[in-house]
Amino acid sequence: MSAKYPRAETSGLKKAQYLLGAKVAGGALLKLDRMKLARKLARPPKPGPFGPPLKSSAWLKELITGHYLKGRFASGARPVAWVTSGAPVEPLIALGFFPIYPENHGAVCGIRRSAEEICEEAESAGYSRDICSYARTDIGSMLSGKTPVGRLPPPDLLVCCTNICQTVLLWYRVLAQHFGCPLVNIDTPFLYGEAQEHQIAFVEKQLEELVRAAEEVSGNRLTEKKLHQVTRYSKQATELWAQIIQMGRHRPAPITAFDQFIHLAPIVEMRGEPFTVDYYGALLEELQERAAQGVGALKEEKIRLVWDNLPVWHKVRWLSEVLAESNATLVASTYTNAWGELTEFIDPENPMRSAALTYLHPILNRGTGHKLSLMKGMVESFEADGVILHSDRSCKPYSIGQVDQRERLTKEAGVPALLLEADHNDPRAFSEEQSRARVEAFLEVVEAKA
Ligand code: SF4
Repeated sequence: MSAKYPRAETSGLKKAQYLLGAKVAGGALLKLDRMKLARKLARPPKPGPFGPPLKSSAWLKELITGHYLKGRFASGARPVAWVTSGAPVEPLIALGFFPIYPENHGAVCGIRRSAEEICEEAESAGYSRDICSYARTDIGSMLSGKTPVGRLPPPDLLVCCTNICQTVLLWYRVLAQHFGCPLVNIDTPFLYGEAQEHQIAFVEKQLEELVRAAEEVSGNRLTEKKLHQVTRYSKQATELWAQIIQMGRHRPAPITAFDQFIHLAPIVEMRGEPFTVDYYGALLEELQERAAQGVGALKEEKIRLVWDNLPVWHKVRWLSEVLAESNATLVASTYTNAWGELTEFIDPENPMRSAALTYLHPILNRGTGHKLSLMKGMVESFEADGVILHSDRSCKPYSIGQVDQRERLTKEAGVPALLLEADHNDPRAFSEEQSRARVEAFLEVVEAKA
């Protein structure tokens, strides 16, 4: 069969630069940086409501910075794939691709407060403010080259999976046109209940085309052994992540959902790698020690809350401080749980079928009833006193049904629930004063009821 997809160009020089620049020199500098940060994190906690910071954060920083550093050198050294957060990435990793997750990059821009300026680049090119702010951040960055991570390597292959939303279909078409590279779409039928056999077969068939495209672009052949190994690492990492989330059930919680928002990065963008398994193993160990010693993320924890939807990336710190002033925190979230709840579907012995099953089941590809019962279950198992539902202006699929969900949580789970209006990446859709007033009033209600 003749090749349908163009092969990524690589050269010996680029490979040497990748090895020396990103891995050897960059790796050594990052190790030094990690040691310095680890010393800083080991100091006694500052005055204020927060307990000691997580020591594993030094390692996390090394992983995330290292990922983007490798990205700077990846072009021409390794085939590069840009993928949606719920894309079946395991065959790509097994074939040696370097993955870039535009949504994660968007979150980095949000945290570093550069998303607004970058979104404006997309808006001035005609992209509406009503489009997802991740898409605007990514397209704005692509058009202007602006990014807080230095440089993103252009893709040799784009992989778009509709298991999170339909916006990605149009967004990735824009990317494909701009970069002139092949785009593989994986369409995942929406699940109203159990996945049907014909739905699994439909996705599996598309995965075969993905493998064909990825083999042709990379010039490598996918071996069963390698795919099994990568899938095993994915499973181990998601199992550990699920256990990490469960640590929030301790009183006081040794980890909050705010911490999880940050520590989530490896499970999203470094799935299938052995170092991700090692990292989560160490984080879990640290949390178990904290739980055994009664060390909490807050010095005094009075109010425990569940969070629904994406984080408000530009206000993560701010919101954690506003809550902490009332000795409140988020002990669980549907968002970070989304990666942990896929564990049961991953079967390294049957990687293609299990990938079809796994990637049919992300929270956004299931009915709103699933999310409601998940939240009710979290309220019970995490002994939460209330729920904050982030009504995310530009993420419609996650926000749909929240008005009903708030009512049903109050009536059926017996907890107060707040609808908080914001946007995951666009600070212009957020009012600090209004949000503070609403959160404080909500906490008073929660406290009175607790
Ligand atoms: S619309 Fe929502 S689910 Fe879709 S890419 Fe944006 S944030 Fe993600």
